[in-house]
Amino acid sequence: MGDNDNITPVYERQGLSHALRETAQSFESVSETPRLDAELLMAHALGISRSDLLLNLPKLAVPDAFAAFSARRKAHEPVAHILGEREFWSLPFQVSPDVLIPRPDSEIMIETAVKIGAKNPPRNIIDLGTGSGALLLAGLSEFPQAQGVGIDASAAALAVAHNNADRLGFSDRSRFLLQDWTAPDWTQFMQQPVGSEPFDLILANPPYVSTGDELSREVAEYEPHSALFAGADGMDDYRIIIPALDDLLAENGTVLLEIGFNQAEAVSRLAKKHGYHVECKQDLGGNDRLLVLSRAGAG
Ligand code: GLN
Repeated sequence: MGDNDNITPVYERQGLSHALRETAQSFESVSETPRLDAELLMAHALGISRSDLLLNLPKLAVPDAFAAFSARRKAHEPVAHILGEREFWSLPFQVSPDVLIPRPDSEIMIETAVKIGAKNPPRNIIDLGTGSGALLLAGLSEFPQAQGVGIDASAAALAVAHNNADRLGFSDRSRFLLQDWTAPDWTQFMQQPVGSEPFDLILANPPYVSTGDELSREVAEYEPHSALFAGADGMDDYRIIIPALDDLLAENGTVLLEIGFNQAEAVSRLAKKHGYHVECKQDLGGNDRLLVLSRAGAG
């Protein structure tokens, strides 16, 4: 053996495929998708796409940056934070610890919007608690004639949303407003000169986790609690949003409201009390995830 063999990192000697296998194994206790995580982090460390990684496995060497990424994942940091990005509705969204990471389960909202909008596409969309802007911008990508407004109580989140609108080419059709719905009269912005026509599509994925619920370390330690927790029964934000919908919604408009898997009954009851017709839809995992609200008697 020459001197060089002694200083070559073990990963390099044994090859990248081996490193992926070992790393995936070491992620098993922190992740439900250990192999995918290892591949995504490796591709990121190499500055290439995952498909390029998989096509060129035998030719590639493990880059120095990989060890640090892998250590962060082992400390439960979400892959999306390490990459700074997460795909939603096939669009790449910048994410940071200031916003909720877009979930595949939320895609049912866009799928439903597309079905509802097929006959009568929305012109004016609002996303309540927009975070990264994922729901609003995915919506705008499907409705090229539509304008969108995203509101959020976090300026840091709005900066991420703004940046996503720029990167994805929607800045001319989207506006972002700092609005806190826990403040009285928060819907007053509808009356201001910068206000808006009533919205024919309202999207919202508000916080809906009960304060007592135990979340995985990945979520609890790395995602913004202000976007997750909503009081003892997880209903605090629905209790504010649902009564305020009347100020925002156009006559024949639709509201798409994400809910926790066990909240369909309670949130439907609240919406019906406020005069809405309610339908419930399930996510990819078969859990109740979305309520479709329209004014009872509208249409
Ligand atoms: N679906 C998220 C979770 O389970 C919660 C999102 C929310 O509160 N809006 O972590």
